Amino acid sequence: MTVFPAQSDAASLGLLERAENGTWLTFEEGLHIYKRAASADLRAAAGRRMAGLWGGKGQPRTYMMYHLLNYSNVCGENCSFCNYWAPAGGAKAWTHNFEDVRPVLEAYWNYGGRVVLFQGGNNYEIGSFSYYTDFLDAMRQRFPDMLVFGCSPTEIHFWSGKYGLPVPKIIAELKAAGLRAIAGAGGEIAHQPIRDLMFKNKVRFGDWLDIMDEAAAQGLSASASMMFGTYDGLDDRFDAEYCRLEHLHLLRERQARTAHYRAFVAWPYQPNKGRIRRKPVPHEEYVRLMSVARLYLRNFPNLQSSYLSLTREQFGASLDYAVNCAGGILYTPELVTGAVGANPNDLSRAQIIEWIAAAGYRPEERDYYGRLLVDPYTGRTPLSNLSLPKETAAAWGAPKEYAV
Ligand code: SF4
Repeated sequence: MTVFPAQSDAASLGLLERAENGTWLTFEEGLHIYKRAASADLRAAAGRRMAGLWGGKGQPRTYMMYHLLNYSNVCGENCSFCNYWAPAGGAKAWTHNFEDVRPVLEAYWNYGGRVVLFQGGNNYEIGSFSYYTDFLDAMRQRFPDMLVFGCSPTEIHFWSGKYGLPVPKIIAELKAAGLRAIAGAGGEIAHQPIRDLMFKNKVRFGDWLDIMDEAAAQGLSASASMMFGTYDGLDDRFDAEYCRLEHLHLLRERQARTAHYRAFVAWPYQPNKGRIRRKPVPHEEYVRLMSVARLYLRNFPNLQSSYLSLTREQFGASLDYAVNCAGGILYTPELVTGAVGANPNDLSRAQIIEWIAAAGYRPEERDYYGRLLVDPYTGRTPLSNLSLPKETAAAWGAPKEYAV
């Protein structure tokens, strides 16, 4: 069990000051503050960095609305943290086609929704890769202005093996069929021995990164994710801080070369009916990780919230020290609440607007690329768009080894 330091050592205080003033910490320095700084000091330094980047109270904090289109829950991976999948042919299994989902997409469009996440399990029953491209193409024909993101590296890796197609060809065909960005699912945690305990055949983290690099080369955007608090920190098998920072470090390294990722989001494993541990990690671990992420991931200006796993107060505080965007608000929350054990009310658009306002910030809706929208729900017209920091290694002041 993790013991948090009650007081920061002198070296940590020096490193925190450097980090909040713009220095890129090395891996060893990042690990030092992660292990040796008191939570209050980590959080305060991250908060000052946050205020410098995104402004303090009264400034915008964003959210985005999207519809989660799960084309199928059939999956052969049996990941030990997942309650979503079903075996093919089972009573709970489903696989949709475009006509099945068309009514809900029509309603979503009429409501003003413009972003769809297209995602499913590693379905071993679908006989041809054209199922996916035909589905995307039908969506594009009917809703040409809908931005569709999805098809995570996990699925792309699986399709490559199942259909015998090279990854670049798969990505090119998905893009030609209308996919505009890749979902970050399947990243979980970089540390391979932990991945090996959670699943057997799913994509390795190095391949996950390579698939994202290929998507970047083909002009597709993406987001990066992390699930922590499974085996990391459960017992003395793994050094939790090392494993978590390793994940951040590998993302930071790739981002410096590709400027590919729109955002980073981390969420703590929610045991629910999962098979790994009985209770989620203490909230302090979330605070420490996100504070370190705000200081260490210098080339990820956008950090998103995993608000499904937070209370209203915890979410509000996260806007102070790490999170500039609540992330995606589901148009159809009932589809996932069973799987993640969340309360549907905590997923609604009205709720998240209220949470942001209650924390002292200005709620603004954004599109997939982070541009603020005129919000039909609140009737507010944003005064200006937030411009993101220029996304190059040089502009971020990256160390020399990251130069491309
Ligand atoms: S997490 Fe994804 S790959 Fe793993 S069992 Fe669930 S649906 Fe399948």
